Amino acid sequence: MTVTGLTTVDTAGEGAVQPRPDQADTELAALAVRVHCATPTPAGDRCLNCGWAHPCSTHRWGTALLVTAGWSPDEIAGLDQRSGAWA
Ligand SMILES: [Zn+2]
Repeated sequence: MTVTGLTTVDTAGEGAVQPRPDQADTELAALAVRVHCATPTPAGDRCLNCGWAHPCSTHRWGTALLVTAGWSPDEIAGLDQRSGAWA
């Protein structure tokens, strides 16, 4: 449905405006993004944790939740505190 320049994905009651994530959800999402970070391989960036192509589904979920919680891209990127590829 489009209303004067605004687009919503809610067509059947699903996808309605989600409440702001609570502290526990936000902490879990931050941990997921930190753990499911990218590492370079000859085949391209892979998730350091699960080995799937980066960003893996867990990283995407965590990033989306943090964005909903109001985190900036810099704050999300700052979760990766590694000193090396396998640190
Ligand atoms: Zn992963």
